[in-house]
Amino acid sequence: MSRYDSRAADPGSYRDRRPDSGFGYKRENESSYRSSSLAKYERGEQSPQRKTDLDGLPPFEKNFYVESSSVAALTEREVEEYRRRREITVEGKDVPKPVTRFGDVGFPDYVIQEIEKAGFTEPTPIQAQGWPMALRGRDLIGIAETGSGKTLAYLLPAIVHVNAQPFLAPGDGPIVLVLAPTRELAVQIQQEATKFGASSKLKNTCIYGGVPKGPQVRDLQKGVEIVIATPGRLIDMLESHHTNLRRVTYLVLDEADRMLDMGFEPQIRKIVDQVCYLLLTLSQ
Ligand code: AMP
Repeated sequence: MSRYDSRAADPGSYRDRRPDSGFGYKRENESSYRSSSLAKYERGEQSPQRKTDLDGLPPFEKNFYVESSSVAALTEREVEEYRRRREITVEGKDVPKPVTRFGDVGFPDYVIQEIEKAGFTEPTPIQAQGWPMALRGRDLIGIAETGSGKTLAYLLPAIVHVNAQPFLAPGDGPIVLVLAPTRELAVQIQQEATKFGASSKLKNTCIYGGVPKGPQVRDLQKGVEIVIATPGRLIDMLESHHTNLRRVTYLVLDEADRMLDMGFEPQIRKIVDQVCYLLLTLSQ
């Protein structure tokens, strides 16, 4: 198998576990597919600009969530009680029920093994409510304080997302882009990405200013599925063509409020404009 074949052909890949993992493949999950932007594009309902943007780009999977029978069995009252107890408030349409146990998320084995190794006992509130949404490919703003498990709330679905995409080809940029306001936060996120992405052999790199560019350029040129970056240095790398955002299908703005307070809005807009597909996850 060439490294450019889809991960579907990889015996260890998540798609091979599809039937019993609870994760759905786009065409088998017709209702979510029908309402997706890709389906709208395929039906000619996407705006002309968007259609041009999408021309020539391969389709991608973004809905990996199937509610487990025990989550489906939760009554509205039980859901309300769980949210009240864990201090979860939600806004928006069709918000999925929270997942109260790791086993109910339908994460593939390689993710569950990492969670067990870390010794976690239950999802934190932002994970319980955020995972079903992020795994569904929903746009999401999550607000939770530091130490609440917010990093894994977006990273574990990101890892599942990457493992369902075709392998990177030469010249491809990352599939997951996480923007963070500071080098310190970017490095912390990278540590989590390295720990939890190791079993599926995902590569990541951290792009931030104030250090020589050489090693970061070399990482980008080797090809990395996950890039964690501060906005200024990332723009520098984009402008000097050391990477591109054509393959990004999962975008996270970590501490988005802080980035805006720090005046990063023009840089964020410049970066987001280069993301052809938008699956936006914000967290604070
Ligand atoms: P945060 O800065 O909000 O991402 O929180 C990070 C800390 O929470 C790290 O030490 C993680 O290992 C830890 N963490 C993440 N998820 C859980 C969980 N479900 N149970 C216990 N600790 C967790």
